[in-house]
Amino acid sequence: MDLLKNKIISDGRALPGDVLLVDSFLNHQIDVPLMREIGREFARIYQDMGITRIVTIESSGIAPAFAAAEEMGLPLVVMKKSVSSLLTEGILQTPVFSYTKGSTYHLTLKRRFINEGDRVLFIDDFLANGEAALGAAKLIEGAGAELSGIGIVIEKAYQSGRKKLLDAGYDVVALASVAAMDEGVIEFVK
Ligand code: 5GP
Repeated sequence: MDLLKNKIISDGRALPGDVLLVDSFLNHQIDVPLMREIGREFARIYQDMGITRIVTIESSGIAPAFAAAEEMGLPLVVMKKSVSSLLTEGILQTPVFSYTKGSTYHLTLKRRFINEGDRVLFIDDFLANGEAALGAAKLIEGAGAELSGIGIVIEKAYQSGRKKLLDAGYDVVALASVAAMDEGVIEFVK
């Protein structure tokens, strides 16, 4: 998606520790017209796959997932990273190691927000080592639904996430695939 790649080149910043900073348009300040285009692109890719529900993880996945859900006219479910004392009944949980925080959180889903037989599209902002997507897959399947697609805004293709997800039998689409990055340099997979 050229619009997205151009934005990454102009406004993204490669930080030490293999983190691409995109907080000026994707997860702190949000470029709403760009999100709309991202939503349209996901809708174009997944429109004929019989998707019934979109699922993401708070908080950085919400903007692109919302845009896709609006464009596709589908319900959106946001998995939580922390557990409220009010959220105890009918929940599914799995530990996920956070790439950016370097610690483990409990990915949490209230079971009744996903129906048995749902065909779910999971959308997230980044794919690095695949921990978040694999955790989401476990909860989606634990709720009796099928994970029909994994839509990622930015993938770091040189990390292990895609291989892990493909090996587990999932379909992965990334709108921008970073092949390599270093200070001042961001290269995309052709
Ligand atoms: P994974 O679970 O695939 O290792 O990492 C994916 C999660 O970590 C995403 O949900 C995203 O929030 C965060 N993440 C991973 N790599 C990056 C990165 O380079 N930049 C930012 N902003 N977030 C990242």
